Amino acid sequence: MKGAVFLDRDGTIIELVHHLNDPADVAVIPGAGRAIADLRTAGWRVVIITNQSVIGRGKLTEAGLDEVHAEMRRQLAPSGADVDGIYFCPLAPSIKDSTVIEDPMRKPGPGMLLAAAQDMQIDLAASFMVGDTVSDMLAGRNAGCATVLVRTGYGAAYDHDAGAIDHDVADLSAAAQVILSGSDR
Ligand SMILES: [Mg+2]
Repeated sequence: MKGAVFLDRDGTIIELVHHLNDPADVAVIPGAGRAIADLRTAGWRVVIITNQSVIGRGKLTEAGLDEVHAEMRRQLAPSGADVDGIYFCPLAPSIKDSTVIEDPMRKPGPGMLLAAAQDMQIDLAASFMVGDTVSDMLAGRNAGCATVLVRTGYGAAYDHDAGAIDHDVADLSAAAQVILSGSDR
């Protein structure tokens, strides 16, 4: 079993757009495609782990989400980048505290990472979770992964004191450098 790099989507791979539901609003963050391509060239599997309450809120269908992801992949392609899987949680939360696990499948719950690990034979203890919010850091920690906070998206104003951050870097490019340099925790 090998590790994987789990990536949050919004604010980590693509620019943060609140309740994104239109493919026309998809904009891959500069350097993100190259970072993903470099990770996969080095043998890492790259799996997106994303909360999509926009579905539970009735603002986007699963078919619409597929269109958003098709556009994201279209923008990643020129860098030679693609992802090995996309896991999303459609649940619309009823509580606002993003450090509280409301459902195991919604970050900060570890459920999507655990499902991916089972589906793809991933060693969670050898894996990383990269994201811009406290729920990403906690989901990674709750799954037994090392965590990388990126200062894009909500990360620019990250002020939680929940711990659970192993690496604190500027963006996905820098996160990939940390991972590729062989640093673990
Ligand atoms: Mg995010």
